[in-house]
Amino acid sequence: MAPRKLAAGNWKMNGTLAALDQIDQLVADQPAPGCDILICPPATLIQPMAARAQGRIAIGGQDCHASASGAHTGDIAAAQLRDAGASHVILGHSERRTDHGETDAEVQAKAVAAHAAGLIAVICLGETEAQRDAGQTLDVIASQLAGSVPEGASAANTVIAYEPVWAIGTGRTPTNDQIAEVHALIRDRLAARFADGADMALLYGGSVKPGNAAEIFAIAHVNGALVGGASLKAADFGPIVAAL
Ligand code: PGA
Repeated sequence: MAPRKLAAGNWKMNGTLAALDQIDQLVADQPAPGCDILICPPATLIQPMAARAQGRIAIGGQDCHASASGAHTGDIAAAQLRDAGASHVILGHSERRTDHGETDAEVQAKAVAAHAAGLIAVICLGETEAQRDAGQTLDVIASQLAGSVPEGASAANTVIAYEPVWAIGTGRTPTNDQIAEVHALIRDRLAARFADGADMALLYGGSVKPGNAAEIFAIAHVNGALVGGASLKAADFGPIVAAL
C-alpha cells in the first residue's frame, strides 16, 4: 500500500466564523481532489467547520492534552476533539515546542492519547537554523522521531510532518536535496521500526505556496504538505491541493 496523499492546512490562531466561507469555496473548487484534504482550525471552529465540511474535508485540532479528562484549565482532550468532529490532531508543532516548552516525551504521550481517542496524529519534527548550520539536522530529526512517535503508531493512525523551523512563515524553503535527504531518513527509520512504516504519510511543511508545491510534491517520500499561511484562503490552498 502506498502512503495516502494528504494536503493539510494549519490555520494556527487565525480565523473566526466568517472564515468558514473558505471551506465552501475549497469544496467548490476541488470537487474531486486526488488527495485527502485536512484543515486544522482553532478549536473554536472545529465543530462548525466539521458541520460545514460534511465529510468532504477532514477536520483536525492543533494540540491535545495527554490526559483523558480532568483539572487542566484551558486544555482540550483528544476525545473532546473527536466529539467536536475532528479526525486528526497536529502534535509537536515547533510553535508548541517553543511557546509551551513541549518535549519529545510530551508529544509522544499526547500521540498515545490521540490514538486512544481514535484520532490520527500528525506529528511534527524540524531542526532550527542553528542546528542546520551546525550540521546536526539528521541527528535532530532522528532523535525527535524516536522520542515523539509512540510504539502504537501505524500508517492508519500517524502522519509525520517535517517542518524546518527556519522555513515556517519565512518564505524560505530547503533545497529539494535537503528535503529529500530528511524524508529519506524519516522513511528509513519508520520502516525499520514499524511493520507498515513504509506506508506512513510524510508531509513537508514550511512556506509551501501555490508556486512551489508541485516541485516539492515531486520529491521522493513527500506524500503531501502541512501548510500554514497559504491554507487560510481557498484561492491559495486550492492550487496546492490540485498540485498534489
Ligand atoms: P507556513 O507554516 O506554511 O506558514 O510556513 C507551516 C506550518 O507551520 O505548519
